[in-house]
Amino acid sequence: MRKGRWVRYLWAVTFVAGCAGKPGPEVAMRAPPQPKRRSAFMRELGTSVQGRPITLATFPGVGQPVLILGGIHGNEPTSAVVARKLIDHLELHPHNGAGRTVVILPEANPDGLLTGRRTNANGVDVNRNFPARNWRRFKHPLFDNGPSPASEPETQAILAAIEEMRPGRIVSIHSIDGNKHCNNYDGPAESLAALMGRFNGYPVRPTMGYPTPGSLGSWAGIDKRIPIVTLELPRNVDSETAWEQNRDALLAAISAEAPAKGSTGAPPAISAGHSPAGD
Ligand SMILES: [Zn+2]
Repeated sequence: MRKGRWVRYLWAVTFVAGCAGKPGPEVAMRAPPQPKRRSAFMRELGTSVQGRPITLATFPGVGQPVLILGGIHGNEPTSAVVARKLIDHLELHPHNGAGRTVVILPEANPDGLLTGRRTNANGVDVNRNFPARNWRRFKHPLFDNGPSPASEPETQAILAAIEEMRPGRIVSIHSIDGNKHCNNYDGPAESLAALMGRFNGYPVRPTMGYPTPGSLGSWAGIDKRIPIVTLELPRNVDSETAWEQNRDALLAAISAEAPAKGSTGAPPAISAGHSPAGD
């Protein structure tokens, strides 16, 4: 190698070694401390008509569990996203649940969510398929309630979760058009709906004005006296906005003192109202 080439070679080695040997500020900086995560315990409750898993996330804690559901109607995907965001939030901020046992079923109707259809893959409205006393067979392109109560695997999965976890209160997340977003309640849940209303600013409604035979609200709230709020998100907002509007309302619903199941005192007030057809 000629001298000129050696000089260029040595210069290049020195330069490269110098770059490698002098760490820049980005190398010298330490990575920021990672927040302590608390992973939810995930398990499969069952499968949908088309075999998709229906998954339950559990955060173990104290007290009667609080059950949060999303995605029971496939054309209301924001409800599933908000439920998922709640899981993520509780994993990153475990203390925000006040140590309560929380169980979250974010995608109750996975087949419907995939196709954007309200019903499950059998064409049944899962939220009309619960074995409530007011269940009556009827056929309808949007509200078909199935051949018999709890005929659908999605309904059975939700019932199994309630049977096993015995929640002290339930929030079922939906979305609705026409500026009808609200905290709708069934059973002894007026105070719970009012509490959520203080955080999300949505009106509190005992009824939307039309019957919903076979709904989860009818079965759990009216028949079983489990306080249940059907949280109707505004359908015209994106999921991030819906989450921002409802994060504190959901955390309040989780961490508040639960009204006693079957309580007849005030608060909470008792409602015999129906859930809306939007639920
Ligand atoms: Zn709905």
